[in-house]
Amino acid sequence: MGRMDNEPELPKVELLNDRLNLTLAFSKRYKMSTAVCYLRLHFPPELSQTNDEEIEIALANNILARLKRSIRNIDTVIKINRTDFAFLIVDITEHDCKLICERIISSISDTYTIDFRHFSISSNIGICMFPYGAEGPEELQLIAKAQMYVAEARGENQFSLYIGELDQTASRKVLIENDFPYALKKGQLHVQFQPQYNLEKKAIDGAEALIRWNHPSLGEVSPAEFISYAEEAGMSNQLFFWVFEEVCRHIASEKTRIMKYSINLSVNQLLLDSFLQDVTEILNLYSVSAKQLTLEITENIEIYSVKTVNDKLNVLKEAGFTIALDDFGNGYFSFSDFIKLPIDYIKLDRDFVFSLWKNKKHKGVVLPIINMAHNLGLQVIIEGIEDQTQFVEWDQLGCDIIQGYFISKPISFEAMMASIAGIEERAGDVRNQG
Ligand code: C2E
Ligand code: MG
Ligand code: MG
Repeated sequence: MGRMDNEPELPKVELLNDRLNLTLAFSKRYKMSTAVCYLRLHFPPELSQTNDEEIEIALANNILARLKRSIRNIDTVIKINRTDFAFLIVDITEHDCKLICERIISSISDTYTIDFRHFSISSNIGICMFPYGAEGPEELQLIAKAQMYVAEARGENQFSLYIGELDQTASRKVLIENDFPYALKKGQLHVQFQPQYNLEKKAIDGAEALIRWNHPSLGEVSPAEFISYAEEAGMSNQLFFWVFEEVCRHIASEKTRIMKYSINLSVNQLLLDSFLQDVTEILNLYSVSAKQLTLEITENIEIYSVKTVNDKLNVLKEAGFTIALDDFGNGYFSFSDFIKLPIDYIKLDRDFVFSLWKNKKHKGVVLPIINMAHNLGLQVIIEGIEDQTQFVEWDQLGCDIIQGYFISKPISFEAMMASIAGIEERAGDVRNQG
C-alpha cells in the first residue's frame, strides 16, 4: 500500500519556534552560546517501501530515547516528522557540540531489531551556533537544516557545522521543502499547457497539463524540484485533484475546440480506492467527459504488482480515460509485464531520446520501439523535440505525436489557444519543405 495521504501535516514549527525563542532569550540573558541542530534519519529502502507505520514509530521512539540520553535534561529535542529531529543544546562550545553530535550519530548508527526484522539506520546532522552563526530563530533553523544537506552530501553518518558560508544548493532545497506545503493555500501554484502535434491529423489535438510553482523569492520552481517533497509531505493526492479540477475548468471554458488533455499521475492516486469516484465527481461538476482526458502514469509503478496496476488501469479505461505510459525507456518494466499493460500511448522519455540522439543511436534503438508499439496497437508520443532537424527526423521515423519546445513551450491555456493555428501552419510548412 502507498503511504496514507492525509491533509498535509504541517511541520512542528510552532513548538520548535517557541522553544527556540525561549532558549535564545535565555542564552542572550546569560551570554551563553547555543547550538541549533537538525538531524535526519535514513531508513533502509525496504522500510520506506513497506510504509509500516508501527515499525517506524517503534524505531523513532527508540532513537528519540538514544538522542535524549546523549544530551542534558535542560536541552530540547523535538521530533519534526518521520525522519527529522531538531535539538537545541544550551551553554555549549563549538568543540563540545561537535563531540556531542559525533556521539549522537554513533549511538544512532546501529542495527535495530523489531518483530524479528533487522534495520540499519544512519543519520546526518547540521549545526548552527547562536550567536556566532545567526541571530534569528528562523534563520538558525534554516541554516541548521541546510547544513544537514551539506553533511548528507558528504556521506552517511556525517555532521556539518555552519561557518559563515551558506551552501546555495542546500539552502534552496530547504526553502522548497519548507515552503511547498503552503504553496497551494497561498495561491502560488498554476497549471501550464504544452501542446502536442498529431502528425497524421496535421493538427494540435492534445496538450499536457504541467504544474508550476511561483515561489516568492526563488521565482518559478520546476516540479522536478518539488514533486518529491509534495509526496513526502503527503500532498500528492491533493495536488493531483487540484490539477485535475483546473484542467476540467479550462476544458469547460473552451467551447470551440475539442482536444485531449494529459494529466500526470503519481502512483499514490492509482491505488486510491475512491479514485474513480472522486474524478467522476469533478468531471460531472464541469460536464467534462473522461474521453477528453489522458492519464500519464510513470514506469515506477512497477514496484506494485502487475495485476494490481492492470486492474486499476482497466477500470479507468472502461470509464473512458486514455492511458499513457510516461518516461518510457527510463523505467524497469520487464518486457512481459509491459505488453500486458492496458495502455494507449507510450511517451518516449526526453533524456533517453536525447542521449540516443547525441550518440546517433536513435534510429537503431527507437525505430524498433516504434514498430513494436504500433504492432501492439499503441501510439508513440515523442517528448523534448527542440529543433526543426529533430522534428523532421522523428516525423520520418513514424512517430505519431510530437511534443517539445519546437512545437511550443508550456504556456498558459489562453496563450495556447491563441497560438494553435500559427503552430499548425509552421509545422505544415516545415513538413512540406522536408
Ligand atoms: P514529464 O511528464 O515527462 O513532463 C515533461 C517535461 O518535459 C516538462 O517539464 C516539460 O516542461 C519538459 N519539456 C517539454 N518539452 C521540452 C523540450 O523540448 N526540451 C526540454 N528540455 N524540456 C521539455 P516540467 O514541467 O519541469 O515537468 C517535469 C516533470 O514533473 C514532468 O515530467 C512530470 O513527471 C512532473 N509533473 C509536472 N506536472 C505535474 C503534475 O501536475 N503532477 C505530477 N504528479 N507530476 C507533474
Ligand atoms: Mg508527463
Ligand atoms: Mg515524460
